[in-house]
Amino acid sequence: MIELNRHYAELKDSYLFYNIAQKTKAYLAAHPGTHLLRLGIGDVSQPLCPAVIDALHEAVNDQAAKDTFHGYMPECGAPFLRETIAAHYKKRGVELGADEVFVSSGASDELGDILDLFDRSAAAMVIEPAYPAYVDANVMAGRRIVHLSSGRENGFLPSPDESIDADILYICSPNNPTGAVFTREQLQAWVDFANRRGAVILFDAAYEAYIEDETLPHSIFELEGARTCAIEICSLSKTAGFTGTRLGYTVIPNTLERGGLHLNAMWVRNRTTKTNGISYILQKGGAAAFTDEGRAQIKEQIALYKRNAKTLTDALDRIGLWYCGGHNAPYVWLHCPDGTDSWTFFDFLLREAQIVGTPGAGFGECGEGFFRFSTFGDPDDTAEAARRLTALLR
Ligand code: PLP
Repeated sequence: MIELNRHYAELKDSYLFYNIAQKTKAYLAAHPGTHLLRLGIGDVSQPLCPAVIDALHEAVNDQAAKDTFHGYMPECGAPFLRETIAAHYKKRGVELGADEVFVSSGASDELGDILDLFDRSAAAMVIEPAYPAYVDANVMAGRRIVHLSSGRENGFLPSPDESIDADILYICSPNNPTGAVFTREQLQAWVDFANRRGAVILFDAAYEAYIEDETLPHSIFELEGARTCAIEICSLSKTAGFTGTRLGYTVIPNTLERGGLHLNAMWVRNRTTKTNGISYILQKGGAAAFTDEGRAQIKEQIALYKRNAKTLTDALDRIGLWYCGGHNAPYVWLHCPDGTDSWTFFDFLLREAQIVGTPGAGFGECGEGFFRFSTFGDPDDTAEAARRLTALLR
């Protein structure tokens, strides 16, 4: 009989969003007609911006005429979009060749697929609390996982130390769920560590567009030495509202090499084997997000989510609860009051204020006792949630 991948049996069931959905459903069944204030899930609430919509429509029209129709697209991305993204990095002082940029169907897909580049014996370090897919994708592949805890004592931004025995280093900055952002010096320490060890950093920059403090790095390639140790995975999901449209990009420098193998060339080989490219229509829509018009419109949307963050952090300041995030990230991460565990706090907020958030325990053991609010929700709901939180907890 066929041997299946037994590592799937080692996956811990992710009850997080399932449990949230079940509890929310049960509450609504018992209290029909209640309007819940949903600050749980990290999905955007605002539509695609007009510049992107116009480009998508135009691209659909292109596909309707013989002269402008596109069939299969290049597997690693359309040259027009690869060049546009490289030019976008250049504006921040990061020089990339267009051939170092790969267009993807989103960060999640890429975070899983990129593991094809590494041997199963390579151990993966995950800084926790973390986006759950990092651990699960490596468990499926049968890799050893090094769980690196973080907490209030280090602002959820741990430093490397020589005892960390791992080869693939996940770094997410700005972080989901904590909203913490590595400074240049802190990130430089990880780059130096990776180069010393011969490890590879998988830098998840899904939330880089939320950075306001311009001393903080948006890209790991702003740091010296990153071109020999890092891959950056980014997405238009949270930058430009592409969660349901699906588009992202990955940067693999030509200079990234281990044991005589070049990771960029390996990824070209991987993509040309395992994909037939991303839809022409989506790539045209994505390119519009990088035009001056697109950037300005996206900035307005991000500003709306930032106002939500301010509404929530103002309420937490009034209440006097410890939190981080919100300023340079679309998540606010707070310490549950009075030592409450995160699921008890979830139930309490649902019952007493009809607010749905995300319990920190779902992001790793060290997330217990903390709670995540997403700022991607409706502004009126967020304002109402802030009022109810203040009334309930002050
Ligand atoms: N990385 C992080 C840290 C995320 O929080 C998410 C989505 O919430 C993703 C990646 C996935 O993004 P995408 O929609 O591009 O798959």
